[in-house]
Amino acid sequence: MSEMNDPRMQSEQPEQLGSSRTMLGVSGLTKIYPDGTLAVDDIDFAVEAGDFCVIIGPSGCGKSTTLHSLVGNLDVTAGTVNLNGVEITDQPTHQRDIGLVFQDFQLFPHLSVSENIEYGLEQLGIDDQKRRQRTERLLEMMQLENLADRDPEELSAGQKQRVALARSLVLEPKLLLLDEPLGDMDYKLQKRMERELLRVHREFDTTFVYVTHDQTQAMRLADQIIVMNDGQVEQSGSVEEIYNSPNTAFVSAFVGDSN
Ligand code: ADP
Ligand code: MG
Repeated sequence: MSEMNDPRMQSEQPEQLGSSRTMLGVSGLTKIYPDGTLAVDDIDFAVEAGDFCVIIGPSGCGKSTTLHSLVGNLDVTAGTVNLNGVEITDQPTHQRDIGLVFQDFQLFPHLSVSENIEYGLEQLGIDDQKRRQRTERLLEMMQLENLADRDPEELSAGQKQRVALARSLVLEPKLLLLDEPLGDMDYKLQKRMERELLRVHREFDTTFVYVTHDQTQAMRLADQIIVMNDGQVEQSGSVEEIYNSPNTAFVSAFVGDSN
């Protein structure tokens, strides 16, 4: 078959940096905090469009710093971040079109649960009816219907986490970064929320970069796993590669206890 007639060639996207499916490209990313802490030490990784990428690693290894660098909340010390082939390293956060669910929720204290969820849609100028529809769908998905009129201060940590998730998911972002988003929930609720995240991943075609220190959760969710340790990327690959062919002693030990 000639190239012209091969359907695989005709559907090929124009070449971007790296593979044509690369959505997020991180190169030489380094963050030294003002007190001298080297939190992220010259890391490289790429995330393919449509993948569920999970970053795992022990507490303090630089996972949160990495996410905050991607979203633009931090001035990075060195390195570049590319989104769909465009360098965004110096772009302000609001121009990046990246959703983030923070480890500490950051809900608006003066707004109710449903107002927190609806807020971003209002900012985007989405009309009343659509706003209500999308907000109600997320209230239902996150099992928050009965809490819609509550204030954040009345909620448990796990409930706040679900509001934070709903507030980001309602915007149907193309890229969503999540920092230990299920950490305050019991196991049963975690499993239920994992299913909802995978549903969003499929239905909204959202690319996820998901941080956790829970290896078993990583295994259930990930297309790609990035293992971090002490500010560095130890290994990046599919679930099978990481579990069957760990390429450092650290990776082997870290994933070992769930084998
Ligand atoms: P993780 O999310 O994997 O637990 P972090 O990115 O929060 O790791 O932290 C990485 C390292 O940077 C740790 O040593 C942590 O103590 C340090 N760190 C985090 N935030 C700050 C800060 N604002 N100032 C100084 N050091 C920090
Ligand atoms: Mg963290």
